[in-house]
Amino acid sequence: MIKVLGKIGLLVSALTVAAAWLVVLRLKSVPVPLLVVYGLLLAGSVAGLLWPGLFGRRSTRRRVLAFVGVPAGLGTLGLYLAVVYYVTDLPVLLALAAAGCLGWAAAALLRGRRRAGGSDTRQTRRAFLLGGAGLVLGVLSGWSVSRVERQRREMLARREHQRQAAVRAPGARRRVADGALRVFPIHTGDTIVTYGQFYGGLDGWEGLNGYVRTLVNKAQIVVPVYAYLIDHPRHGLLLVDTGVNREQAHDHDGYYDMTSRLLSERDEYQMTSQQDLRVRLARLGYDAKEVSTVFLTHVHDDHAGGLRYLPQATVVMDRRDWDHGVLYPYSFDLVRENLSFPAFDSGAFGAFPAGQDHFGDGSIVLLPTPGHSPGHMCVLLRMDEGGVLFMGDTLYTLPHLAVDQVRQMTIGGADTIHQIEAARRIQNLLASDAGVVPLFAHDNTRYQSERVLSAFAHGTPGKEGLRELRAHMEAVLTPGWRLRPGHTPHFVPAASGTGWGRVEFR
Ligand SMILES: [Zn+2]
Repeated sequence: MIKVLGKIGLLVSALTVAAAWLVVLRLKSVPVPLLVVYGLLLAGSVAGLLWPGLFGRRSTRRRVLAFVGVPAGLGTLGLYLAVVYYVTDLPVLLALAAAGCLGWAAAALLRGRRRAGGSDTRQTRRAFLLGGAGLVLGVLSGWSVSRVERQRREMLARREHQRQAAVRAPGARRRVADGALRVFPIHTGDTIVTYGQFYGGLDGWEGLNGYVRTLVNKAQIVVPVYAYLIDHPRHGLLLVDTGVNREQAHDHDGYYDMTSRLLSERDEYQMTSQQDLRVRLARLGYDAKEVSTVFLTHVHDDHAGGLRYLPQATVVMDRRDWDHGVLYPYSFDLVRENLSFPAFDSGAFGAFPAGQDHFGDGSIVLLPTPGHSPGHMCVLLRMDEGGVLFMGDTLYTLPHLAVDQVRQMTIGGADTIHQIEAARRIQNLLASDAGVVPLFAHDNTRYQSERVLSAFAHGTPGKEGLRELRAHMEAVLTPGWRLRPGHTPHFVPAASGTGWGRVEFR
């Protein structure tokens, strides 16, 4: 009785694993006909590899195994490699197969020895065959590791070559050394997100539900990733966030771990060689090596990626984000020793109960805005003609300031409450000081593409430029922080059904 239950349990778990794999394949957008083939092969593998071993007679068992189980298993593996071919997965899969073969061979040897006092020829022969296969697969996996690594290096070398060409391309600027404070928006690439993750916070994109939807939902848009450079007459060259790095955008296999690659077959970032942070800085007349301080609004990787290029910089970030852990340690590898955690002990700042006057002269104030991440902070830069509030990801775009009408995906629970609280404090700060303009990390509206980029084209918007930005803000939002007509986002799917959708404001 217990034996039968055990067998049924084993069969159920094998079927569950097969079903889970089908779900993963579906999430990866494997088309339905192919999914059916996978399903058949998986059913064949389960039936051929497991069923006869558990229930059949010895002679039928071997036949089913040879004619159904093994071919279906190999077919599944082959199809997986062919369809979702990740170069760096290959050595791993080969190594796993080699380990399996060797383990099996060892078991066969031991079994043969136990049964016939060390002289069961069939078991010994099987052990040698399997052991040989294991060794061959092991050698193959070792060989492919070096090949894969060489291909990766060549690809990265090509990218590096393109980067250097982009720095030398005509049209670069010379730095103006007139002692003026300058701020430059740095477009470091784009990220592909689901529309709901970006704009659906009030339509159920919250917490675990929201996270699952980001994996399943196919309504995707492309939004920019911005960092901001501050050339400060007293404090040197500063950055607010750093954008993405080259590996994030191009080295899929080298950057994502195997689990991430099982769930997603494409990079979530796009970056041209001109959008490399180092290229952007060089084209403005600066050198990435001169950046002394980075204010990191939060640890997320589209903000921390460029730290790879700034090993000399002090990285100022909220300790709560660091303690909570980083998703891709790779981005932080070179700056681990340079982290600086503000104490937030400079007293209240407007509606914010705590703040950090970073340089002690009021020029840069760090404001805790937890919610999007546990230690998210906004950065307020004060200049003679007014101020700039760098939002990080507390609010993605200008319309998100209407937090009761447009909301990005939130973590849920207390985090959502904190994020809305932060949004209200930001509204309060902007309302109380008409000279302050918000700058966003992912604004995909005309505010960024037409207004911000032209106002900061030379880094010095002046009082007039800041006033025009505020005027645009007030044309989009009412004083009560509601959207005026014509500014509510809607998703428009891609015309041909391929590629990404876009956002229309109506
Ligand atoms: Zn973020």
